[in-house]
Amino acid sequence: MIELIDIKKSYGNLEILKGINLKISKGECVSIVGASGAGKSTLLQLIGALDTPNHGKLIINDEDITNSDNLSEFRNKSIGFIFQFHNLLPEFTALENICIPAFISGTKTKVAQKKAFELLKKLGLENRASHKPSQLSGGEQQRVAVARALINDPTILLADEPSGNLDSKNANELHELILKINKDFNQTCIIVTHNMEFANMADRTLTISDGFIS
Ligand code: ADP
Repeated sequence: MIELIDIKKSYGNLEILKGINLKISKGECVSIVGASGAGKSTLLQLIGALDTPNHGKLIINDEDITNSDNLSEFRNKSIGFIFQFHNLLPEFTALENICIPAFISGTKTKVAQKKAFELLKKLGLENRASHKPSQLSGGEQQRVAVARALINDPTILLADEPSGNLDSKNANELHELILKINKDFNQTCIIVTHNMEFANMADRTLTISDGFIS
């Protein structure tokens, strides 16, 4: 379902990715590790259509998105992102934050709210729906960010150091949650992490080094 063919990416004359070939099947959970600065986030951003490669082909859900004009729509509907920092909007409640991607894709308010509440319930946060991010713990904030990533039923969940800002207890809970989502929703997951224990829990671990993947 995801195929990268000879993907290259440079910033100025700094060659970060030098020819990445990769296939990821539907429902697979893949972790990506490598030294800091190796290009892990760059690769994730290309797969998530947040950036475009300088060379190569990127096929997602049988669609060649390399030169697509509709990247933002594709991203909103097909990709769920979880970042190291939750990026929740401080003036909105947990429920409202989760609804935002659904509103962007044109879902009616009532439908989005119902679904956001169901997700909160699934993640054990139904009694936090009306809390603002500052009223939530770090682990809860990150779980709200997970719910926000899932609201549009994305086919692909991308996580960039999702537990990098959490203590080990909350980090472990988040790891288990992401793996459960991968299994329960048959969701394709790609996770960039420094945490080798988490990386090894994935179906497959890839290493980026010197611009290539192995
Ligand atoms: P990793 O996630 O493995 O730590 P990144 O993909 O974030 O690595 O970054 C790889 C390299 O590309 C780093 O040297 C970083 O400084 C550089 N880089 C990333 N994004 C940009 C950008 N927008 N402009 C210039 N250089 C960048």
